Amino acid sequence: MSDCIFCKIAKNEIPANKIYENDNFFSVFDANPRVKGHSLVISKRHFKNLLDMPSTLGTELLDCIKKTAIKLVEENMAEGFNVLNNNMEVAGQVVKHFHVHILPRKKGDGIKMIG
Ligand code: AMP
Ligand code: ZN
Repeated sequence: MSDCIFCKIAKNEIPANKIYENDNFFSVFDANPRVKGHSLVISKRHFKNLLDMPSTLGTELLDCIKKTAIKLVEENMAEGFNVLNNNMEVAGQVVKHFHVHILPRKKGDGIKMIG
């Protein structure tokens, strides 16, 4: 998709500091972080959302999420983390290219997710 911002990052047409990458996914820091270290795991190919992504990529997706989260913990940006994925506009998806948010958490940060 030529006008897709995440496709441009995937093709290195827009420079970005990649935190981690494997054959099908990469991670970067969110341009508008909700908390310090807020990161995105993004597919290298253009999938509209989770439903559009082949399930065969699940292992690599999990690898990218885990390796990114481990770095955030090791570099002291997180004591724990939430993983969030918005699918379709009504659920808050703005960029229509599959991605997963990793939100670092620290003791006493006061952030309320589910639960
Ligand atoms: P979503 O609401 O799940 O579609 O989230 C899209 C996220 O992408 C937002 O948190 C944006 O801040 C983030 N974002 C948009 N453009 C960029 C960019 N060029 N680099 C990094 N993050 C971006
Ligand atoms: Zn795209």
